[in-house]
Amino acid sequence: MNDASPPTFTPDLLDRLVSETGLWPDGRAAAATFPVFDPATEEVIATVADGGVEEAVAAVDSAARAFASWAQTSPRARSEILRRTFELMQAEAGDLAALIAWENGKAIGDARSEVAYAAEFFRWYAEEAVRSDGRFEQAPSGAARTVVLHRPVGVAALVTPWNFPAAMATRKIGPALAAGCTVVLKPARETPLTALAIARLLSRAGLPDGVLNVVPTSKSGVLVSTWLEDARVRKLSFTGSTEVGRTLLRQTADRIVNASMELGGNAPFIVTEDADVAAAVRGAMIAKFRNGGQACTAANRFYVHEAVAPAFIEQFGAAIQALRVGPASDPAHEIGPLINRTARNDVGALVDRAVAQGARISHWAAAPDRGCFYPPTLLIDVPPSAEILATEIFGPVAPIVTWESEPDLIAQVNDTELGLAAYLYAGDLGRARWLAQSIDAGMVGVNRGIVSDPSAPFGGVKQSGLGREGAREGLLEYQEAQYLSLDWPS
Ligand code: NAD
Repeated sequence: MNDASPPTFTPDLLDRLVSETGLWPDGRAAAATFPVFDPATEEVIATVADGGVEEAVAAVDSAARAFASWAQTSPRARSEILRRTFELMQAEAGDLAALIAWENGKAIGDARSEVAYAAEFFRWYAEEAVRSDGRFEQAPSGAARTVVLHRPVGVAALVTPWNFPAAMATRKIGPALAAGCTVVLKPARETPLTALAIARLLSRAGLPDGVLNVVPTSKSGVLVSTWLEDARVRKLSFTGSTEVGRTLLRQTADRIVNASMELGGNAPFIVTEDADVAAAVRGAMIAKFRNGGQACTAANRFYVHEAVAPAFIEQFGAAIQALRVGPASDPAHEIGPLINRTARNDVGALVDRAVAQGARISHWAAAPDRGCFYPPTLLIDVPPSAEILATEIFGPVAPIVTWESEPDLIAQVNDTELGLAAYLYAGDLGRARWLAQSIDAGMVGVNRGIVSDPSAPFGGVKQSGLGREGAREGLLEYQEAQYLSLDWPS
């Protein structure tokens, strides 16, 4: 499929990418199934085996059996499986993008970008798998030599959200497998098909049976609790909302399970008076509207200096009005529906309350008046105390606040319990660096509207998370340090 051709949403796409959806990998018929919907039409795409306690335990049995041999597999052999999976994802990119767009609803251009980004985690961790070094040093007392090794944590439970169904899975699977861990993975209920397709590609690339076990479920709480109560599970890596992350962290406390948390965001997007306004608008379009605003890194609140606010609002508003909104089946569409009707209604209610609190809708784009679509919307005159500035919008709505004084700006920007991403457009780079370092966030895009990169340590501060994904740091999340203290006769 080339970039211009429309994706095909037909059952043969499922046949090509996903094994039998109503069966477990051992061929057993599922006792229960649940439907997966197309958010653009609200029609059922497929029904998928619905995992419960029995399947949760069976998945850990399988991962625990495979662990000893996978942990002993040479780094080179693990690396080559990851590298082959990267190549398979590239070869199947068109089909994978269509599957993501079908079950998630995102525009096909966004889905293609996600496949490219997701595949990069396999390439990056294929490279990191063979560079997992340790340390050798003399103890300061001179009495011993210390050798520091990194060992795989063990069976890792991975829980992923629906907004990036491929990338959030590969960002965990890549480092887990590179480190020598085996995996049980629970995809989001809304988007299990992409995870099943990725598991199939890993198997085609030579991943031994049992190393990765995907269990879709409609009963997330039961499934994940079963894993966290199982003494064989030593790691939880979760991506999702802060609320669910908090619940799971409490559960990990019972057995002191090693936990990595990638949670919610409330990214500020700052424009200073000396910024290049046209560049800031281009960055704002990406930071806000990539994935229809359903990204943890999405710009959630815009702080624009009074001196450039009229020009920024005019140009940003014109770009928003020009957005083409509709189903991903038409490649001309740039924004798809929200994930479901509840999400759409929540965004609508949040905008209504912002307007009641004094905000004004200055620009919007036409959107299908049905199902889960919501029109991209620009809100101006938003009071700094408005609820919408303190809430993760997760939709295509951009609220603008204007500012004059830098200390007040920093106080407003940091007045939140979340600290994932932030964006800053400024002309003077010295000032940009100072401002960026004043923001409580794990990632700051300086004169850029996107921060994600497999080679950079993705993650947040405060209640946006614990730990990092991607880069060298991402591998360490699946390893434990062990040191040998050696007597070293002279
Ligand atoms: P969510 O927290 O509702 O769900 C995330 C995952 O947890 C899904 O697999 C879901 O089925 C599962 N889950 C839900 N309730 C559970 C429970 N009680 N026990 C165990 N598992 C449970 O989040 P979502 O709606 O899928 O995703 C949106 C959220 O994810 C946003 O807050 C967004 O900011 C965040 N997110 C963060 C990052 C990041 O890297 N920091 C990336 C993507 C999304």
